[in-house]
Amino acid sequence: MLNSLFRGRHKYATLKPRDADAQREVPGGLWTKCDECGQIIYNKELKKNLMVCPRCGYYFRVSAWERISQLIDEGTFQQLEDNVVFQNPLGFPGYEERIERARQDSGIESAVISGMGLLDSHPVVIVCMDFAFIGATMGSMEGEKIALAVEAALESRRPLIVVATSGGARMHEGILALMQMAKTSAALSRFHDEGLLYITVLTSPTYGGVSASFGWLGDIIIAEPKAAIGFAGKRTIEQTGERLPEGFQTAEFMLQHGLIDLIVERKALRQTLSDLLDLHGVERVSASHEVHAGAGADGTGTDVAVLGGSADGQ
Ligand SMILES: [Zn+2]
Repeated sequence: MLNSLFRGRHKYATLKPRDADAQREVPGGLWTKCDECGQIIYNKELKKNLMVCPRCGYYFRVSAWERISQLIDEGTFQQLEDNVVFQNPLGFPGYEERIERARQDSGIESAVISGMGLLDSHPVVIVCMDFAFIGATMGSMEGEKIALAVEAALESRRPLIVVATSGGARMHEGILALMQMAKTSAALSRFHDEGLLYITVLTSPTYGGVSASFGWLGDIIIAEPKAAIGFAGKRTIEQTGERLPEGFQTAEFMLQHGLIDLIVERKALRQTLSDLLDLHGVERVSASHEVHAGAGADGTGTDVAVLGGSADGQ
């Protein structure tokens, strides 16, 4: 049964128009109201400001595609294809419908987008999670895509960057969702043994099986300011009678207690990642080199597509 969940090997995919549609970060309309200060913000301004409120500095959630456009050099991103298909292994009632609805609402096929590209001219493999897809919960599809991205980074000897967000393991898959923790951790252990660089960026919120596996396994663990990060949520823990300290499960608290390495503002994230890659001796290449490298990687040289024009969908 499990074998049928993950058919075939990964190769490069042609991006479908549906993916391009998914790059729209701001849902319908021209304006967005800030959740924190109530300011009405022109969507174009919000996007230009990397989805941070220009008035109060509130961090809006960033979709996976938007994050890729913020971090990866224009025109160099190539999505990894994986032939991972959705199944409902436990026959959980309504799960198929839930996935279908999530796909329609978010415009993406699972909570994970993974691919190769250049970050300030450094070749990387990048994985971005999208909270709009069932709270970026981790099911078999997500775990498999992440494990395959680790393998792609291993084969290409590239650093791996994971921008995580998640509500935890997806309950519809029970133990199979939890098994993704072991699978991704085992893949990362091999990656680590090869001495390759793995950086995680924990964004708000990152919880459950994701923080407790690949989220916290980074060689360097970065978080966005004020990000809510943890394993079980505060309310769940307090049900056990435990009293929790002020600021518990914030990025700042984690930094103070040595669980993360850096808090980096969104506007400085790309440059910080670039500096870290430089520091670890990752050499820069030209964009044409990157596109060529991608085209040859699956042996066919034809099954590759690059986001045309601007990676932010304009
Ligand atoms: Zn605001």
